[in-house]
Amino acid sequence: MKITRELIRRLPKTDLHVHLGGSVRLETLIDLAVADGIELPSYTVQGLKETVFKETYRDLEEYLKCFVYPGAVMQKADNLARIAYELAIDNQNEGVRYLEARFAPQRYAGGEMDIHQVLDAVNEGLSRAKKEFNSRESIAAGSEPPFDYGIIACAMRYFTHDSSCYYRNLYSVHSHSTPDRIVGLASFELAGAVVKARRERGVPVVAIDIAGREKGYPPIHHSEAYALAQRNYINKTVHAGEAYGPESIFQAVTELGADRIGHATSLFSAELISDPSVIDKQRYVDDLAGFIADRRVTIEVCLSSNMQTAPELHRIEDHPFRKMMEKRLSCTICTDNRTVSHTTVTDEIYKAVKAFNLSSAQLKNLVAYGFKRSFYPHTYEQKRSYVKQCMDYFEKIIAAPV
Ligand SMILES: [Zn+2]
Repeated sequence: MKITRELIRRLPKTDLHVHLGGSVRLETLIDLAVADGIELPSYTVQGLKETVFKETYRDLEEYLKCFVYPGAVMQKADNLARIAYELAIDNQNEGVRYLEARFAPQRYAGGEMDIHQVLDAVNEGLSRAKKEFNSRESIAAGSEPPFDYGIIACAMRYFTHDSSCYYRNLYSVHSHSTPDRIVGLASFELAGAVVKARRERGVPVVAIDIAGREKGYPPIHHSEAYALAQRNYINKTVHAGEAYGPESIFQAVTELGADRIGHATSLFSAELISDPSVIDKQRYVDDLAGFIADRRVTIEVCLSSNMQTAPELHRIEDHPFRKMMEKRLSCTICTDNRTVSHTTVTDEIYKAVKAFNLSSAQLKNLVAYGFKRSFYPHTYEQKRSYVKQCMDYFEKIIAAPV
């Protein structure tokens, strides 16, 4: 059977790794910036693509600059709700049935909103889109699966006084603490807010994450936050092995107990190990990959994003995803940033199918991992029946391609 882009578009899919700030529609960014008097380098979609949201980026640092302008318009609850709503709609329109949207609440807090108000605003937008979608007749009749979502709250590995009002306040009240300690305090506070939002306020915040600059900002500073999440059954994902070597992934799974890893691009790069006490580097990465495979720690693979930020990847075929598949790791294909990486879930899966010559059985496995390893916010029984419904629908589409 030929796997076409159109077939993939119609299949039920997930996106478990997508940043709200990196996925704002450019038309909306312009709209909100004009309304709020925020300066942009250009007020046309084409102009923004030429100056900020480029086809390729020099490195992760330049890539991360794309978040500055969306960050500026995301300081108001109404704007956040609109951006979240549109993200869900864009996903629904390409067949995504389950979405986990992530963002760093502390980047938008401290001014008009506190952390809970940020979470509420995003939840409002996502839940509105969910309600609209699920009111369709075919969904009510059970002939196709409904749309659902979870929220992932990211702590930042690195921030300055200027990163947001929240961070400025934090630095000022902890003026005698080191920056590393302040980073740890911020993530611990975020984990506390997440526990409260989930447990007491019914917001589907399903996991915590750490994001931002990786090199020089190790996961270890966030161990208290992750321990708090663990004690409260909040799931844990970690951006690791994107701009730093396998040791970053090692820390994510051993120190933070990550259930999933964002990227893990350097998982097999033994040459990037910098710890001089590691004598047998190949053994180190083999053991690490074995541990991840055996524990079913799922890797959130973001092909286009990695191609844009990893200069050593010249061709998509060189991406370690091939090796991840060979080693039977649990992987799910994600977008990372729809706008910054100019992509969709359909495009990402289609890219994977073409570059790695995936069979329909492999495609089915990949899609199934997305549903199974999601942090679905309802009961285990409900999750099982939802996964089954989605995969039955998958079979139905595959059996009757247009
Ligand atoms: Zn990411």
